[in-house]
Amino acid sequence: MTSNTPKPTTNDAGIPVSSDEHSLTVGPDGPILLQDHYLIEQMANFNRERIPERQPHAKGSGAFGYFEVTRDISAYTKAALFQPGTKTDTLIRFSTVAGESGSPDTWRDPRGFALKFYTTQGNYDMVGNNTPVFFLRDPMKFQHFIRSQKRRADSGLRDHDMQWDFWTLSPESAHQVTWLMGDRGIPKTWRHMNGYSSHTYMWVNKDDERFWVRYHFKTDQGIECLTQQEADRLAGVDADCHRRDLFESIRQKNYPSWTLKVQLMPFSEAETYRFNPFDLTKVWPHGDYPLHEVGKLVLNRNPTDFHTEIEQAAFEPNSFVPGIGPSPDKMLLGRLFSYADAHRARLGVNYKQIPVNRPKAPVYSYSKDGAMRVINVSDPVYAPNSKGGPKADSQQYAQKEVWNANGAFVRAAYTLRKDDDDFGQAGTLVREVMDDAQRDRLVSNVVGHLKKGVTQPVLERCFEYWRNIDKQIGDRIADGVNGG
Ligand code: NDP
Repeated sequence: MTSNTPKPTTNDAGIPVSSDEHSLTVGPDGPILLQDHYLIEQMANFNRERIPERQPHAKGSGAFGYFEVTRDISAYTKAALFQPGTKTDTLIRFSTVAGESGSPDTWRDPRGFALKFYTTQGNYDMVGNNTPVFFLRDPMKFQHFIRSQKRRADSGLRDHDMQWDFWTLSPESAHQVTWLMGDRGIPKTWRHMNGYSSHTYMWVNKDDERFWVRYHFKTDQGIECLTQQEADRLAGVDADCHRRDLFESIRQKNYPSWTLKVQLMPFSEAETYRFNPFDLTKVWPHGDYPLHEVGKLVLNRNPTDFHTEIEQAAFEPNSFVPGIGPSPDKMLLGRLFSYADAHRARLGVNYKQIPVNRPKAPVYSYSKDGAMRVINVSDPVYAPNSKGGPKADSQQYAQKEVWNANGAFVRAAYTLRKDDDDFGQAGTLVREVMDDAQRDRLVSNVVGHLKKGVTQPVLERCFEYWRNIDKQIGDRIADGVNGG
């Protein structure tokens, strides 16, 4: 056989098949026979090709690469992946939030920025976005929020009225909504946007000192955005433009990169900072907490099988390595449960055995059996045991990523501090970060959005919401909608 000769087709059991074109029939014109197992296998496989799409973040794509530490930040964390000079294989997945898996890449929406670092201490995942804040600060509202952004029960249509109804009844959304309605609400490509942890995490160094940290992955390609008009046009002519751009850039060896910088807050400062630093609707101003450079993320390899490497990729913010832990951010604490649960529902209980999710570090766990387990389990299957099974090393891996908590069980908002409010940082973004042209586009984007089906009582609340962010912008939006 020469190298150009195609390999003989087999069925999934590796048995050669006799035709790619004809089913087995009784004579050329007769009925199809049930013993045509190859035909049945093809039809059955086809019927099961689609797995459930992710609930939010269904449309996206990803790539592989590496993260390399270029500075010495070992004073702040002992995590192996952040030690000087360390290079770690990395997977990233970008996505929109509300759209389904076939939806246009250019809809106005935050973008997911999910990372998996295959570290020597196990997989470290960071499930970030291209925005430093989020719409909510309590996970109780998350499900309702996503439903309000997706589709109505009756018509199956997306509905601006329900979006603004939810947002205006949830004023903590104001900062993120302002960000979303501004230029950065539609990036030109995934390569031209930043990624943020958004959440606050804990870092612990080798002396057990604790710090609070926020991650900023700054694009080395520069920030570039699309106007609403450009985005609308692209949604029609190339709905997959962001997916295409990433794949083509990497294929042409034009490898995108991001510089990781972090903001660090000494552990005890969180108690007295002027607003709650764990509130996901707020940034830490750079003037208070400057950026420290850490290293570079480079993407240099495309998937070869989109389904197994991207659709089946499972990121979960609970996947911490020693030296990194959670913070009292309530949204983060909710996500620590919900992501892994979503993967169990979508991919099955053994999703961590799918090659893309498998750690490169050895696994010595006691998990056992379940649907689609493919890696052998060996005895002993219980702990403690006297049979040589794995034993936790409580000395070396003592839990240090912890904080003290005390109080009655309550259902309540965070305790308010001096500078805690819903609208202040949104106002700063409008007045001090955006220029005149950006403010004009913000007003035009909001007016355009509100003119599509938002009903009267909700509209009045929208004007009030925007006046709370900035009186002038609110007035301009009201004038624009009312035809002034
Ligand atoms: P700074 O002036 O130090 O930072 C302003 C930040 O705004 C920069 O990080 C810049 O990102 C980003 N930015 C610029 N244009 C836009 C835009 N159109 N939409 C969204 N972000 C933009 O100020 P502060 O740190 O005091 O923050 C002021 C406001 O800036 C905040 O209220 C927040 O809305 C916004 N912001 C703050 C961030 C933070 O972590 N402190 C991060 C992102 C936004 P870049 O440098 O990449 O161009």
